[in-house]
Amino acid sequence: MSDMKNKNRGQFPPNNRNQGMYFAIFLIIVLGVFLLIYLYMKPKPVLTYNEFLKSIEGNAIARVVIQGQMINGEFKNPDATGAKEFKTVIPLDDPTLLPLLKTNHIAIIGEPIRDGSGDFIWWIVIISVGMFLLWFLLMRGGQGGDPGRAMSFGKSRARLHRDMSGKITFADVAGCEEAKQDLQEVVEFLKSPQKFTSLGAKIPKGALLVGSPGTGKTLLAKAVAGEANVPFFSVSGSEFVEMFVGVGASRVRDLFAEGRKNAPCIIFIDELDAVGRSRGAGLGGSHDEREQTLNQILVEMDGFDSSEGLIILAATNRPDILDLALMRPGRFDRKIVVDKPDVRARELILKVHTRKVPLEPETNLENIARGTPGLTGADIENLVNEAALKAARDNRKKVNDGDFEFAKDKILLGPERKSKIILDEDKLVTAYHESGHAVLGHFLPLTDPIHKITVIPRGFAAGVTFSLPVDERTHLFKERLLQELMVLLAGRATEEIKFGHDWISGGASNDIDRATQIAHSMVCEWGMSEKLGPVSYGEKEGPVFLGKDLVTRKNFSEKIHETIDNEIRDIITDAYKKAKDLVVKYKAKLDKLAKVLLEREVLNSEEINEILGPSDKDRFPIQANLEKNDGPVVMKRHAAPAPEAPKPAKKRPGGTKK
Ligand code: ADP
Ligand code: MG
Ligand code: ZN
Repeated sequence: MSDMKNKNRGQFPPNNRNQGMYFAIFLIIVLGVFLLIYLYMKPKPVLTYNEFLKSIEGNAIARVVIQGQMINGEFKNPDATGAKEFKTVIPLDDPTLLPLLKTNHIAIIGEPIRDGSGDFIWWIVIISVGMFLLWFLLMRGGQGGDPGRAMSFGKSRARLHRDMSGKITFADVAGCEEAKQDLQEVVEFLKSPQKFTSLGAKIPKGALLVGSPGTGKTLLAKAVAGEANVPFFSVSGSEFVEMFVGVGASRVRDLFAEGRKNAPCIIFIDELDAVGRSRGAGLGGSHDEREQTLNQILVEMDGFDSSEGLIILAATNRPDILDLALMRPGRFDRKIVVDKPDVRARELILKVHTRKVPLEPETNLENIARGTPGLTGADIENLVNEAALKAARDNRKKVNDGDFEFAKDKILLGPERKSKIILDEDKLVTAYHESGHAVLGHFLPLTDPIHKITVIPRGFAAGVTFSLPVDERTHLFKERLLQELMVLLAGRATEEIKFGHDWISGGASNDIDRATQIAHSMVCEWGMSEKLGPVSYGEKEGPVFLGKDLVTRKNFSEKIHETIDNEIRDIITDAYKKAKDLVVKYKAKLDKLAKVLLEREVLNSEEINEILGPSDKDRFPIQANLEKNDGPVVMKRHAAPAPEAPKPAKKRPGGTKK
């Protein structure tokens, strides 16, 4: 599993010579420092005090330096071993010594006693100067960005995967069939470029892998290299943006030079958005550097011919912010979408990652796949790992369904915080709040069925009601969204009805947040307000990229702004009122559920169904219309991506917490 990532990363220094150079200089400095230390501390023969006195009387000594009890001296002539200097220690105070020295006309030099820390500071100074010098040299190399220079620091730190044993192939990438098909062409080309070039066929220079984090873009790029059996250089966009001005550009140059030398091969630029953001949009320090790097990428991409056998792959999860120049013909003109896996793909990914995990025979991967909508490949890898850890903690030899259930809850809901001490009244409020969500989620026909409900704090939440979609949805119907709003607001509604308005809690803040986002999207993005019509009201949200965001402006007037605010508030207050009505309607069931929840702390879907009784969840009432042939047509799943559920920022993958 995760060790697979590093196994084949044969760290290949593409710039051996320069690295050797650094090392040599570093070594010279270190050796110099040691030499100095050695010279300074060169051992001198130690005389016994008797010998010393004898030497004085024998008139063999030229001078002495007295420092406390220490005496360093110089012979008039080198002694038998050739030493010209010596040292000795005065055993006790010897009042006869000074007169003796004087009478023998030996030069006496007195020195105050030091504790040696003075020398130490000198060493620090010398070493720091050495370090600084080294750093200075490196920096100069970086700034010039001239690859010819010996100290060039701009050498790409691209990693070259040469070791082909245990390579990654398409078999390791489960699902993403379309992406694999698109990339198969690249593989064919890399395997035998002549076949294509002899026909005069034009091969794309670059392909851009687009998809959410963790969907397997990096994995796919590696698999292409593995399939074609060619070297794989990878470098991450964020690595380009870190150092001194000019380094990024020269790294790009070296990366491509290295690639050409090793062609046919793949150059993979991960996180292209870090460096490929629209020019002129950046704020702050690395701005110029980024643009230079980006320009260099463009120059290099124009400068080579795909018949050289070089293919550039890049990955990003923000294609919308990329500089358009990157997407021009002859550059990354192929876009390969790597989707989040659907049920079937998730099952396949589970199979891939459980290859080496011993499973209980009755473990049902299909069920697990169905219960984990929205999880990416990376999430699933993590899920398998957590399940295996759980089994290991419980001292079992095999992983079972329960372990996966545990892992799923941990990943989707955050870890349980059982040790947190909860006041009884808090628990009571939480139990009612969560029961409110659950009851409405259970009885409203269009919302996701409730999967689990708990009053044990998880992650940041005091309690959790967790619902899971039965299958992937493509459309967000207005009616469904309205019901979703009711479920979201049901927690607060229950608190108000049960305990009175003075005793509502702040525990609903996240619910309210999300309800507001949904209502906002309904009005401003999805054109679901009758008053405002199907118009998009700007202020594009989405992950914040400061530079770009400053450019976007409102495309509506103050008057419209007010109407938008009113519409949002109307939608929410209306949903809240309806939620309260339903809470009153189902009060008896709600009391029962809250009571059991307080006792058992966690209830799963079967237990909830048992307590609340049957609901008429009919997930697609319009399907019935279709059969009768007199209603709106239901479009089955189609390729267009679903409108992202409101602000994915805080949303956990898959299910929803309330
Ligand atoms: P991305 O580059 O899109 O963020 P990665 O390629 O780094 O995602 O995926 C991270 C890990 O998740 C991979 O190393 C792999 O173990 C797992 N993974 C992701 N997608 C898949 C998939 N389709 N099949 C198998 N494993 C996958
Ligand atoms: Mg990646
Ligand atoms: Zn809530």
